[in-house]
Amino acid sequence: MIDLRSDTVTQPTDAMRRAMADAEVGDDVFGDDPTVNRLQDRVAELTGKEAALFVASGTQSNLAGVLAHCGRGDAFLIGRGYHVVSYEGGGSAVLGSAWPYPLEVDARGALAPETIHAAIPADDVHFPQPVLLCLENTMGGKVQSLDTIRAAADAGRSHGLAVHLDGARLWNAVVATGTEVADWTQHVDTVSLCLSKGLGAPVGSVLAGPADFISRAHRIRKMLGGGMRQAVVLAAAGLHALDHHVERLADDHARAARLAEAIGALGRDDVRVVGQETNMAMVEVDAPAAVASHLAQHGITVLPWPTMRLVCHLGIDDAAVDAVVAAFASAPAA
Ligand SMILES: *Cc1c(COP(=O)(O)O)cnc(C)c1O
Repeated sequence: MIDLRSDTVTQPTDAMRRAMADAEVGDDVFGDDPTVNRLQDRVAELTGKEAALFVASGTQSNLAGVLAHCGRGDAFLIGRGYHVVSYEGGGSAVLGSAWPYPLEVDARGALAPETIHAAIPADDVHFPQPVLLCLENTMGGKVQSLDTIRAAADAGRSHGLAVHLDGARLWNAVVATGTEVADWTQHVDTVSLCLSKGLGAPVGSVLAGPADFISRAHRIRKMLGGGMRQAVVLAAAGLHALDHHVERLADDHARAARLAEAIGALGRDDVRVVGQETNMAMVEVDAPAAVASHLAQHGITVLPWPTMRLVCHLGIDDAAVDAVVAAFASAPAA
């Protein structure tokens, strides 16, 4: 099975399963799980923040984060199409009464400082008042440069906004640019990092920020039903992923580049490579349903979108790349 739908489909490796089986177990709701605490301390250190909190998912992380930043009726500025406003069920509004104010982004998903400045309302009773700016990196696989993140964060801060970075795939930006996590997180107040995408853990994200913020987020996590008791097996997988699966993201990026190049070299009119960003190759397909079903006959799973996202990850090796290219080559013409 070659599954290119997302990097969330990764399976724990044998070594990760052993780390999970061998971990020391406590009860995390009582705060006495040594493995969860180690994971949280590790991420706090990596991000240069005072504290961190292990949560069930990226969605729960962002939700607890936005709710810990915003009171009822507060607004937050965010790029149009970013995950928090577009793909999280409207949780911040539904559960936190925090009002998302989407701003236009450029073709790479970047929020310009001028756009942020222009969005700050007058202090007038008519206008919801923003207290937070939400950024995202990578955005749809695209790396937002350090300058982009710094400039947007500075613009937000100049108006007194806190800045939250949805860094579900920040690891990919880190590896693609040869930087450190802290190079990015120094510009923001709080950050959410995912362990279950490219890093290959089965479950989990980590939210990091100032100690008082994490303590509010901890209370909110409990309220959201996110206290996980013997979370140790999950945290052990996360620690293993941090130790062994960060640098190897470069292999995923190289394979996505090879996929894009080889599919492009097929020279098909009906399958056009339109880009490659970090671990994703983007292919415009005239007959997505037919191509997806042809690929399925070759044991390859894709999302049948007109612009197909072919996502490389821990479960995709060089042989899988070759098999995908061969299957695209043999797909019937549209
Ligand atoms: C996947 C993703 C999330 C949500 O993560 P889940 O663990 O699926 O809830 C949040 N933000 C971004 C940018 C993501 O890519």
